[in-house]
Amino acid sequence: MHIFVKSGMGNFVNTMRSAISSSVRSTSTMSGKPGMDDIGIKKLGVTDAKEVKDEDWKKVLDPQTYSVTRKADTEAPFTGAYDKFFEKGRYRCVCCGIELFNSDSKFWAGCGWPAFSNSVDNDLNIKRIVDNSHGMTRTEVRCKNCDAHLGHVFDDGPQDKGGERYCINSVSMVFEQM
Ligand SMILES: [Zn+2]
Repeated sequence: MHIFVKSGMGNFVNTMRSAISSSVRSTSTMSGKPGMDDIGIKKLGVTDAKEVKDEDWKKVLDPQTYSVTRKADTEAPFTGAYDKFFEKGRYRCVCCGIELFNSDSKFWAGCGWPAFSNSVDNDLNIKRIVDNSHGMTRTEVRCKNCDAHLGHVFDDGPQDKGGERYCINSVSMVFEQM
């Protein structure tokens, strides 16, 4: 189960409006989705994501992306750019650019967030953390390189692909076409 936590619809609409306008401003792909130039550390001009301070993340990430990746918020279901997106390519961390998922493992779960059956090289760049928030025990997944919150991993994925479902916020990722 994936719980969507927001303070109120008014705030949510404003957040979405600012997220949309900022992604239009900074978009570098024809599809209208964030591109490689939208990666946080590229905008900051640094190479080591571990040295980036919270206030600097805030400067280069749009408000929704900042609150999801740096404050473990969750985007509204069925709103993300990659929920119903199945082009061939790789998904990178929006903060540091490291490779997280490949389109080969992406599937439609109907839950409202992008779903993957596996991460790149079996969690090479992903760490798992026990998350006891919201009155349940879940496994949170974060970027191993920059600690960005990505989403959660559940054990209700396709059995023929290992049985796991990575439930990931679209805003945590940047798609790179291959
Ligand atoms: Zn990262």
